[in-house]
Amino acid sequence: MTAVHDVVVLGLGIHGSAATHELARRGLDVVAVERFAPGHTRGSSHGATRMIRRAYPSPVWNDLVDRAYRGWERWGTAAGAPFLHPTGGLYAHRGEPTMQGGASLPVDREAWRTLAPSLRPPETYGAVHDPDAGVLEAARALAFAQSAAAAAGADLRFGEAVLDRRVDDGVVTVRTDRGSIRARRLVLAGGAWAAQLVPEAAAFFEVWRIVTLTVPTGQAIAQPPALGCFSVDLPEGLVFGLPEAAGSGAKIGIDAGPVWDPDVPVAPPTEDEAAHLAGLFERFVPGIDTAGGEAVACLYTMTPDKRFVVGALPNEPEVLVAAACSGHGFKFGPAIGEAVADLVQGVDRPDLDFLSPARMVTTA
Ligand SMILES: Cc1cc2nc3c(=O)[nH]c(=O)nc-3n(C[C@H](O)[C@H](O)[C@H](O)COP(=O)(O)OP(=O)(O)OC[C@H]3O[C@@H](n4cnc5c(N)ncnc54)[C@H](O)[C@@H]3O)c2cc1C
Repeated sequence: MTAVHDVVVLGLGIHGSAATHELARRGLDVVAVERFAPGHTRGSSHGATRMIRRAYPSPVWNDLVDRAYRGWERWGTAAGAPFLHPTGGLYAHRGEPTMQGGASLPVDREAWRTLAPSLRPPETYGAVHDPDAGVLEAARALAFAQSAAAAAGADLRFGEAVLDRRVDDGVVTVRTDRGSIRARRLVLAGGAWAAQLVPEAAAFFEVWRIVTLTVPTGQAIAQPPALGCFSVDLPEGLVFGLPEAAGSGAKIGIDAGPVWDPDVPVAPPTEDEAAHLAGLFERFVPGIDTAGGEAVACLYTMTPDKRFVVGALPNEPEVLVAAACSGHGFKFGPAIGEAVADLVQGVDRPDLDFLSPARMVTTA
């Protein structure tokens, strides 16, 4: 009979890595299983940078956002250098302002020209300014979470795929392509594979292929204080941008893409896709040099309400889900790690009710 671990974590993207790190840091015996190699590009967590902001469309996010900011502070201290580079952010919208949170405030055109002189959203748009927005060093953060988890005693297994699971008498047996692992809890942090992992709620998840373009570094107009984080709410999708920070070039993308089967390797960006993004950058940041920009493709896992799924499955309380981050999940990495560890340890977290797995079945 194999040993029964405290927790097995499926998936080592940012959420599985953060959960493994936090569980091991709290002294639990954790095994984490990832089907691909470290640094792989098949999921959602690769790439040098991600945006963080307090500005959100609903106050329901405010507490988790706050925990995320405190988490990045904690990780930066533990790593010896911050992951978060403050840049400020301007979020341009049609109609009424939709973003709030922290010190975010609607600003007029004159103010936004001072706050981000390089940014030229459409003339008719309003904007909300978030002074706390910034750029996260994503690749360094992912590597940190994994190495800190291993240093705290977690067993990280790359190149091993989970095939299925069974729960008997409160013990989960996970069958992999290398054997089986038994644990009191299983955390499903499978990103784009969520629909396969929770088939009864498959209709709740939709995976999109998203392309971003990162332009070469060294352009003053693409750095703070000339440019911060931004978004422009176009009818074709939300255009999002990050300024140059932490040695990475400014980046642009659009929250729209074709539905994608995660079992099929993500198709590399086409020349047309890269040219489209270059055109958007030149339109909203006139004068930016997009020549030599690098386009990358990645997966979003969307839910109907654009909220994540964090909590125990109603019919399998030994199995927790931490998934479906709908294109805005990276910034919550340390907070999701903490949430998973709290739930595993039986800490009451009513603040997570808005992310409850129960709604997967009721709203799918
Ligand atoms: C282009 C792009 C830009 C983004 N920009 C931002 C941003 O600016 N700010 C922000 O906050 N967020 C952003 N996001 C979203 C954020 O990156 C994601 O929400 C986050 O990375 C999701 O992490 P995850 O751990 O849930 O999933 P993943 O990173 O996909 O990890 C899931 C892992 O599970 C593994 N796995 C799945 N099934 C199995 C199995 N059966 N056995 C073993 N392993 C398995 C996969 O191989 C994968 O490594 C962006 C995403 C993209 C794609």
